[in-house]
Parts: sequence; structure tokens; C-alpha cells
Amino acid sequence: MIKIPFLRPNLVRQDTFTHYLSQIEKSRWYSNYGPLNTLFENRVLTEYYEGNGAALTVNNATIGLMLAINQSKRPKGQYALMPSFTFSATPLAAMWCGLEPYFVDVNKDDWCMNEELVEDLLKKLGDKVAVVVPYATFGTDVNLTFYKELHKTGVPVVFDAAPSFGTKGRNGSFGNDFPGLIVFSFHATKSFGIGEGGLVYSADRELISQIRQAGNFGFSTNRETISQGLNSKLSEYSAAIALATLDAFPEKIK
Ligand SMILES: *Cc1c(COP(=O)(O)O)cnc(C)c1O
Repeated sequence: MIKIPFLRPNLVRQDTFTHYLSQIEKSRWYSNYGPLNTLFENRVLTEYYEGNGAALTVNNATIGLMLAINQSKRPKGQYALMPSFTFSATPLAAMWCGLEPYFVDVNKDDWCMNEELVEDLLKKLGDKVAVVVPYATFGTDVNLTFYKELHKTGVPVVFDAAPSFGTKGRNGSFGNDFPGLIVFSFHATKSFGIGEGGLVYSADRELISQIRQAGNFGFSTNRETISQGLNSKLSEYSAAIALATLDAFPEKIK
């Protein structure tokens, strides 16, 4: 029997990132938001988000979702509202944050969470809703107006946008100017594949800097752990591949 692969990732070739690897050997800076990672974050912000807000790399989107949900969740909340059609990482991330996934049905046409059902549930559950976690299904350019308003009224929104990096929407790159959190995956099978990795974007710079801190053991500037942290840092080796992927991405999208 011949096995025909459903999907075979085709990432950037070695010769496109050798010059970045040489920089790692020279600087001997291998992780901890090093120069290649910083260059990558800055390039994403200027090349994809017109310099609006802030971007932070993470070592995968599941960890990114955990950090984003944990940072946003309302203290009295119990539930994370999310679509019934998503990848298991979405409910798992909420559960790691001590929340109960509350599944909401999706629309027939775009397979994204039904906003009217979300509104009804918010009325019914009130403060018990800790966070809303929609999924931009398969990279769909979801209209963010409803979720923007929701976030502004105090119900935090964390978007699982795992496959969406590079989606050009009605307002530039997907998530541009969004006041809640947008989480992308750089897993090999996603549009922007580097192996393992991810990115958290928000128009809210303060929120991103809190997550950056939490992703580095919750360290304050004098290396004291002041929040519930973990290690979500992207290595400089992965950042090298991410930079080469960014170089090739416009061509890849075409
Ligand atoms: C791939 C994917 C994730 C997980 O991303 P990782 O970077 O592999 O952790 C989460 N949610 C959705 C919808 C995905 O497709």
C-alpha cells in the first residue's frame, strides 16, 4: 500500500539561515530574548503590524495560550468560553489555568464560534465567565469588531489564531490593533512553520510586557519571581529559522 501524506511541511532550507547561525556563534547568546529573537519580534511588528502594539515570541502556541489566558482571566471566573470546533490545545490551555472549558457551537458558513450564543451565555453566566477564547478557524479572517467591543467592556478575549500568521484581513494583518491577545503557532504544519514556536500579539503593550515577564519565570528586573511564571522562551536557533522564514514568507504566501 502506498501512503500518500495529507500534508508534508516544507520549511526554509539550511543555506537560508546559516548566516543567522553564525551570528549566534559570534555573540554566544543562545536564548533569553537574545539579539535574533529581538530582531524577529521587531520585524514582525514593523512588517506586519505597522508598529502598532507589541509582539512576543513563545516556544509553542499552547504555552502562549496558557500565558495569555492566565494573564487575562477574571479572578472570579470559572469558565473559558470557546468554540466546540477547535484543536485540543484550546481547552487544555484553559484547564492548565484552572478554568473549565465551556463549548459554544460554531456557524455553518465559517466554522467560527457563534457570537449570538456567546452574548446569550454572557448574560446567563455573568462573572462566572473568566475569559472568551475564540478560534480563527483554519486561518479565517474573523471580523474582530464584536470581540474588540467585548474586550473593552471588561470580558477578556484571547484569540486562538494558531494557523493565522500572515492572514491579510480587513484591517491589515490578522489581529492588527486588537486590544486583547492573539496567539499564533509556528509549528511545522502551520502557514508560518519553523518547527516549534509561536507568537503573542496585542495592541496593549503593557499586557505583552506582563506576559514576557511571566514567560521568563515571572522575574522582575532584579530577578525576583513576582508572578506565576514558567519558561516560554524561544531559543536563538529557532529565532534564526524564524528570521529566514520571515525573509521567505512574502514569496511563500504568493
Ligand atoms: C496547532 C494549534 C494549536 C497548538 O499550537 P502549538 O504551537 O503546536 O502548541 C492550538 N490551537 C489550534 C487551533 C491549532 O491549530
